[in-house]
Amino acid sequence: MTTDTKQRVWLGPGVVRFTVLCEACLAECSPKEGRYATVLEGELPLSRVREVATCPHGHAFELVRTSAGRRAA
Ligand SMILES: [Zn+2]
Ligand SMILES: [Zn+2]
Repeated sequence: MTTDTKQRVWLGPGVVRFTVLCEACLAECSPKEGRYATVLEGELPLSRVREVATCPHGHAFELVRTSAGRRAA
């Protein structure tokens, strides 16, 4: 089963490491695995503005770095 909707993770300026809960896992896995929730941990190098990642169960994430200024994307 695949979920087309990417979950978006917003990282502030200067933030490299992130930890987020996978909402898809919360919805799909929690009923089966109790309250166990999948946490996605990773890093987005400062040189990168956008990156894709997947949780251990294959749900897609998009990592997006926000800029300090309010530049339009
Ligand atoms: Zn899962
Ligand atoms: Zn997941």
